[in-house]
Amino acid sequence: MSDYKEGTKCIQAGYKPAGGQPRQVPIVQSTTFHYDTSEAMGRLFDLEDSGYFYTRLQNPTNDYVAAKIAALEGGCAGMLTSSGQAANFFALFNICECGSHIVASSSIYGGTFNLISVTMAKMGIEVTFVEPDCSRQELDAAFKENTRAVFGETIANPALTVLDIEKFAQAAHEHGVPLIVDNTFPTPINCRPIEWGADIVTHSTTKYMDGHGAAVGGAIVDSGKFDWMAHADKFPGLTSPDESYHGIVYAEKFGQEGAFITKCTSQLMRDFGSIQSPQNAYLLNLGLESLHVRMPRHCENGLAAARFLKEQPQVEYVSYPDLEGDRFHELAKKYLPGGSCGVVSFCLKGGRSAAERFMKSLKMAAIETHVADSRTCCLNPATSTHRQLTDEQLQEAGIPAGLVRLSCGLEDKEDIIADLEAAFSALD
Ligand SMILES: *Cc1c(COP(=O)(O)O)cnc(C)c1O
Repeated sequence: MSDYKEGTKCIQAGYKPAGGQPRQVPIVQSTTFHYDTSEAMGRLFDLEDSGYFYTRLQNPTNDYVAAKIAALEGGCAGMLTSSGQAANFFALFNICECGSHIVASSSIYGGTFNLISVTMAKMGIEVTFVEPDCSRQELDAAFKENTRAVFGETIANPALTVLDIEKFAQAAHEHGVPLIVDNTFPTPINCRPIEWGADIVTHSTTKYMDGHGAAVGGAIVDSGKFDWMAHADKFPGLTSPDESYHGIVYAEKFGQEGAFITKCTSQLMRDFGSIQSPQNAYLLNLGLESLHVRMPRHCENGLAAARFLKEQPQVEYVSYPDLEGDRFHELAKKYLPGGSCGVVSFCLKGGRSAAERFMKSLKMAAIETHVADSRTCCLNPATSTHRQLTDEQLQEAGIPAGLVRLSCGLEDKEDIIADLEAAFSALD
């Protein structure tokens, strides 16, 4: 499977039916699984055998789809979660605990910013935020004795900054911790962070992977490349006995390639229960089957819209990494040579009120708390997703009040631009 190109993996990876089995991924709509003896079941509970016993821990439909995403990212193991929020929380909490510290890019999704800076703080986990384009010295200065992970987004939602993955990975590794990258916006079609040194990749599959606005979901992929045992003192959860699992040492029993996802499943999913429903996993898989066909169209429409917006006198600036002259264009050329995504951010000169008036005048692009699906939509983060942030935090996160996030769908680009054109006329 690893020899196939990404497009082929979108179709073929994960589920391989034997003779007489369903051609499409079956939806295993069952909470529980049958065994003949309690010994057989006991071996599963002891993690001595692998198999299914309760859908909160594992379900075949989910595993087929997780395996496809892991193959696409070039990882060794993967799992699905109920949402992207759960994926990022699990990925971090799998290696952090009370007293740990995280280095994170400040340019990240509002929900993740809140998760890390507010909710995880209540768990005793500290964070230091750095600019996505900070210097190596600034990055190094953010690390502490108790740092356990570095976190960033390949392309940040909604600021559209591009993470210098190689630089962040090098810094993380020199400080003995893994780099976790949320790769939601580019998807593995446009960037595979593991190839640039990332250790763990997360996704909100709610976005392009599903691609049709049908199902909320998340995914975590492990590269299997981080040597937990070499930094055993930092990651006791993986390298010392888990008393809640009969004293298993994950990194010993499941090795470097199995430890992270096995612990995340058998401990965090067991205790937090943020499982993706098999129905949603099925819908996600339908989306994945066309991901490689859809992403280039999203990028084509995004670039056309960005070029158009840049010409408009009412626009203060446009952020779109594929645009010549964008602050992150050089990084985009390196990490996203085939295009970034369909999301374009632009700031209207008239601030919050101009953004509101502009969006009201759009006929086709709907105002939605969503991005990255087949229908063009838009959002003013200051009055919606990021309304819990102060103006200062908004500015710090690169999201001023007049910013509009336009998510270009799969329509014809001429119609997207005509819709924008009419809204600009209405602004005057
Ligand atoms: C949407 C999003 C999330 C959160 O995902 P949900 O599926 O909505 O929980 C996390 N990271 C990024 C980059 C996102 O765009």
